[in-house]
Amino acid sequence: MVTSTPPTLLNRATADTYRHLISQVSGRIAERFATVDRPATGIAPSELRPQIEAVDLDRPLPGLDDALDEIDALYLRDAVWFHHPRYLAHLNCPVALPAVAAETILASVNTSVDTWDQSAGGTLIEQHLIGWTARRIGYGPDADGVFTSGGTQSNLQALLLARDEAVEYVVKNSQHPPRGAEVLPRLRLFASAHSHFSVVKAARLLGLGEDAVITVPADADRRMNPRALDAALETCRGEGLVPAAVVATAGTTDFGSIDPLEAVAEVCESHRVWLHVDAAYGCGLLVSPTRRDRLDGVERADSVTVDYHKAFFQPVSSSAVVVRDRGSLRHVAHHADYLNPAEALHPNQVDKSLQTTRRLDALKLWMTLRSIGPDAIGAMFDRVCALAGEIWAHLEADPRFTTAAGPSELSTVLFRVEGVADEVQPLAREAVAASGEGMVAATRVDGRWALKLTLLNPDTGPAEVVPVLEALAARAAAIGEAA
Ligand SMILES: *Cc1c(COP(=O)(O)O)cnc(C)c1O
Repeated sequence: MVTSTPPTLLNRATADTYRHLISQVSGRIAERFATVDRPATGIAPSELRPQIEAVDLDRPLPGLDDALDEIDALYLRDAVWFHHPRYLAHLNCPVALPAVAAETILASVNTSVDTWDQSAGGTLIEQHLIGWTARRIGYGPDADGVFTSGGTQSNLQALLLARDEAVEYVVKNSQHPPRGAEVLPRLRLFASAHSHFSVVKAARLLGLGEDAVITVPADADRRMNPRALDAALETCRGEGLVPAAVVATAGTTDFGSIDPLEAVAEVCESHRVWLHVDAAYGCGLLVSPTRRDRLDGVERADSVTVDYHKAFFQPVSSSAVVVRDRGSLRHVAHHADYLNPAEALHPNQVDKSLQTTRRLDALKLWMTLRSIGPDAIGAMFDRVCALAGEIWAHLEADPRFTTAAGPSELSTVLFRVEGVADEVQPLAREAVAASGEGMVAATRVDGRWALKLTLLNPDTGPAEVVPVLEALAARAAAIGEAA
């Protein structure tokens, strides 16, 4: 007889254990959500590390309950809570309830969405969501794409497609065709200084090298200057180099600024260069009832990154890369006899993906759209954009602060506490985080420290944000005096 000790695998015999376990877990989490009164406890690594490292992973606890108690003590008690209205730091959102429910489903069933014979309906669900996203972008029937682990991977894949298109073009149009590898050092990517660091990382991974990314000047509002782009592409060609892609950012991480998509697309079309739009942050505008026009021109891109886990209130991971022409996805296709032979009869997603085994993250967005609908998501994203405008105006009017950038096109706010030394800004942020008064971010703007709010919680209003600003001013003043 086969025996196993609890906790056992999820199967027919353990269905009741599963029910009990999930209800216990949800009970504990619900209790946390009902009682958490600050975004983080501000615990230091020095306090937590000895406790976590003392856990002997070779000696299990007596049961599931004990393991849950331990997780409570080591992780949940001091976790960072993005749903808390005073969490104002990074691009993390509170998550939509239907998506959390779907997370339980997809983890339990454990579908792998790479081939039909591992996912069945999961494949079609993902494809239908990609089609929906493509139509929101404004793409035609030739569009396609795939879910990814995040914007970093979406950008990497898009730039891989652009790279291989460029190499193919050069090889095809040369009198003495070079080998593909010989073309790589001549390829260049173009992005503004405010683009995400994953663009430079992608260049490195794609064998182009960091120097392959040419910085295109931006205007005072941190948006790519299309005339400067035109000139940079001209120079590139003049030097015998090959422009492989332009990355326009639709929502820069620090400023929420959106590169002028129509004008940039115009330049890319005239130079016949691949345009990738990194809308990891700004993709929420795709469903916005009042601000969709800020993405006008996105449909002229060859590829688009969308991070549902930033602007669609989805749990990590949930992202996609969407392409205007599905033919370009051939660059990541590989046919393995055991998995997806070229003559396979059924649809599959592994042909389009950098990953093989892959979660059905799409189910979370599916359940969200099917239970609350896209308008509700768009309205929530609108609310955080509107709040950013209000807070920016509040800071402008208060002499204790200066804004460090103009009003955002999305939902960030950059500012400084007046009358204190530069290095006090991040210290004030640390102090406010450690006290539980609120979490904000710090970054450098034009070489000087600035404080940053990234507003992604539609339940947060000025009544929550203003006390955090007050705390920052008070802490900064106190630190300044002590120095
Ligand atoms: C967050 C972000 C990324 C990276 O996305 P991940 O999901 O964190 O990998 C890429 N581009 C922009 C503009 C971003 O804000």
